[in-house]
Amino acid sequence: MIEPANTTDARLESWLPVAADGDFPIQNLPYGAFQRDGATRLGVAIGDRILDLYALAEAGMTEDVCEPRLLQAPHLNPFLAAGRSRWLAVRERLSALLRVDGDARLRQANLERFFVARHGATMRVPMEIGDYVDFYSSIEHATNLGRLFRPGTEPLMANWRWIPVGYHGRSSTVVIDGTAIRRPRGQRRPPDAQAPEFGPTRRLDIELEVGFVTGPGNALGVPIPARDASEHVFGLLLVNDWSARDIQAWEYQPLGPFLGKSFATTISPWIVTLEALEPFRVRSRLQEPAPLEYLRVDARSSYDIELGIELETQRMREHGAGPITIARTNFRDVYWNMAQQLAHATVNGAATRPGDLYASGTISGSETNSQGSLIELSWNGEHPIGLPDGETRSFLEDGDAVTLRGWCEKAGARRIGFGCARGQIEPAEKL
Ligand code: CA
Repeated sequence: MIEPANTTDARLESWLPVAADGDFPIQNLPYGAFQRDGATRLGVAIGDRILDLYALAEAGMTEDVCEPRLLQAPHLNPFLAAGRSRWLAVRERLSALLRVDGDARLRQANLERFFVARHGATMRVPMEIGDYVDFYSSIEHATNLGRLFRPGTEPLMANWRWIPVGYHGRSSTVVIDGTAIRRPRGQRRPPDAQAPEFGPTRRLDIELEVGFVTGPGNALGVPIPARDASEHVFGLLLVNDWSARDIQAWEYQPLGPFLGKSFATTISPWIVTLEALEPFRVRSRLQEPAPLEYLRVDARSSYDIELGIELETQRMREHGAGPITIARTNFRDVYWNMAQQLAHATVNGAATRPGDLYASGTISGSETNSQGSLIELSWNGEHPIGLPDGETRSFLEDGDAVTLRGWCEKAGARRIGFGCARGQIEPAEKL
């Protein structure tokens, strides 16, 4: 009998080689979906490899903790529906199978059956996303956008400190890391013009966000109380909410974002579970005024996740120069936390289902170069971002590639990471 261990204990080591500064030590064990033998399978990242959960279930190494069908589905939804006790049982089994002093069955098996190389693997969106909601929960971002979109007025709307503001996005255009992003066309009205014109967006932007994926969810008409919200959060990933600012500015009033955002949303391929993030759970930001009763949660409902944005232009790529980091920020100080977002999103009785995606909204800090969008970093083009070879950027040009990264580190814990969410801009489709 193998003794269960605290699966985030920094002393745990895997018998597989894992880089000390890598994203995927045995303390992480994030879930994704990858292609193998012409089918999509579920997997868990460990070091430079993917552990094939289909093969593991087939070999009977998990059958006493989880029905095989949950791990042999082509997406995570059945496993997400099973709930936290099942997630924990599987995590403890995976940890035991992968650690040096654990369950030896996997270590003694034919490794080619159970592992594939992570590098070069074709990843898929790991869940069927029924609904996708995007919030607007960073007070620094909401203030900056208020100043840019509505100059001369109070930047925060009267509801902002009372409601986690959000909108329903387009789940069918959520794409996986590495998917090319086609520059969208649409209506835009240039400053001082009387009528709109039509064409490719001239103000293509990014939004650095962290999203969460839901577990069991709630029945229609039965809200999820804030105190229970974490039972319905399976894990987190990186989200890039690509945004066409000129299309957005013309269309967004009075009903909110539409075509300026619905053309594509990129996610990172690995869902980092709340269990793996537990060492990095931190006290949430003080909210003033105090939120209404249904939005009150545990004071420690936020997560300390470092975030970065990298940019690589076509010219940088041709010259062999690596991408450069244009912004760094952190998820911990986002004003409305995930428990509040989920409580609010269901308080009217709206149902959430396994695999739904909720994104934080752009994450911006108050320091220089801590903003999560180009419209903030370049202040609407007034201060273009300087690049090492003399190029500048206010918004994205064709051939530009943007990569989001996220990781957690602190003394006494093993560093874990999210991998990345990358997208490269292709020219607008020829008409
Ligand atoms: Ca957004």
